[in-house]
Amino acid sequence: MIRELQEGLFAGGSAEEMINSLFEKIRRSRLNAYNHIAEDQALERAREFDRAPWEGRLAGVPIAIKSSISTKGIETNCSSRILSGYIPPYDAHVIERLKEEGAIIIGKTNMDEFAMGTSTETSYFGPTKNPWDLDRVPGGSSGGSAAAVAAGEAPASLGSDTGGSIRCPASFCGIVGLKPTYGLVSRYGLVSYANSLEQIGPLTANVEDAALMMEAISGHDPRDSTSVKSEGGYLSGLYGGVEGLTFGVPEEYFGEGVDPLVEEAVWDAISKLEELGASWKMVSLPHTKYALAAYYIIAMSVASSNLARFDGLRYGLRLGADQDWHTTFSEIRAAGFGPEVKRRVLLGTYALSAGYYGRYYLKALKVRTLIKQDFERALSAGGADLLVTPTMPVPAFKIGERIEDPLSLYMADVFTVPINLAGVPAISVPCGFADGLPIGLQIIGRHFDEAAVLRAAEAYEDATPYHEAVPKEVI
Ligand code: GLN
Repeated sequence: MIRELQEGLFAGGSAEEMINSLFEKIRRSRLNAYNHIAEDQALERAREFDRAPWEGRLAGVPIAIKSSISTKGIETNCSSRILSGYIPPYDAHVIERLKEEGAIIIGKTNMDEFAMGTSTETSYFGPTKNPWDLDRVPGGSSGGSAAAVAAGEAPASLGSDTGGSIRCPASFCGIVGLKPTYGLVSRYGLVSYANSLEQIGPLTANVEDAALMMEAISGHDPRDSTSVKSEGGYLSGLYGGVEGLTFGVPEEYFGEGVDPLVEEAVWDAISKLEELGASWKMVSLPHTKYALAAYYIIAMSVASSNLARFDGLRYGLRLGADQDWHTTFSEIRAAGFGPEVKRRVLLGTYALSAGYYGRYYLKALKVRTLIKQDFERALSAGGADLLVTPTMPVPAFKIGERIEDPLSLYMADVFTVPINLAGVPAISVPCGFADGLPIGLQIIGRHFDEAAVLRAAEAYEDATPYHEAVPKEVI
């Protein structure tokens, strides 16, 4: 997709025209994939490009960015009222990298408020719709980033994934989404939700584009001390195939609660990998059943601390209330945060309070270690090279179907959150349809082995037609 687009541009096509036609599409769209389009900045840069095209792996390529990633001069509101109108004075590291590679930022995409959700329904700006069925959610929290790519409103986008927020919407919208190994991509400029779990990553129309985006955004940044140097090689090793690789199939990721059509599609994918020369075996990740509880305790606890900075004085909404600090703080947060954010701040504060810290937060950290060890064991030398599972237990559900029952929404993350607890990389690639709705296959790798994850995903994609299907609702 990106390669063809660039070939078109360098064969005399106009970036300005291409971006104008995207904006035209976005304006007519019924999806609500964007919170903000950066029309003036994008068109100015496109005109500069047309006058004197520059070099770069992403030269002239329009890219959409999740609203939690800071973009200099472009509103970055996390789909929250409390940050509405906030225009960052600086770019996130990943944005600097995209620009250095020649990309053009076209706008900011809708998301669950502060990335807290699985459906993009908690956005202050209303839900995004799934391009395969407008009555359904696009997944979340990077729902706008996924819907935009699926519907051709952006060739590629960035999202962030704390517990599935790139892979879930990629799965629900029938596109590719990669959560990199913790530390491979700098989080500088990402509005924090739960720091030790999250990574920025690409949402793209195919695996090659994901590899290309990873070449651009990965690597050490001194402003994020958890980031490491990237070995690269994502593109150069992409077409090596799966021959000789062993895939582990975790027994805990099948059975109860998984839609039979999803299971069937994933087993078909495993057969396809076998046809392509790989072997597979059953493996066990025995602590999977504790992952959701541990994840939500950790994520909410950290979020309750992170979100304390939105007090209307240092950051966030001003209501003109000039009373004492406590009153001002309470009024601003009552008005600025939506119900899901409030729920999580309350639960997280509770889990961290004296007497409960050991019972909940510390216990969850211990469970996290056990889960990480599960993955290390399954992926150890002599074990499997990669793991393969469904990304989500079900296809996209209806807008409104689960939002009143937070637990049923949290449960949908059962196969994505363990990966963030372990810090390993995982990709979601389209692997079939259930009654016209896309299904995602999750391929999980060893720490920093994105090259193998991408290579396997590419081999699978190349042998199957699912990524080529186009949603009905595309204008
Ligand atoms: N659905 C999960 C949550 O609500 C994951 C969200 C994310 O990855 N940002 O926390």
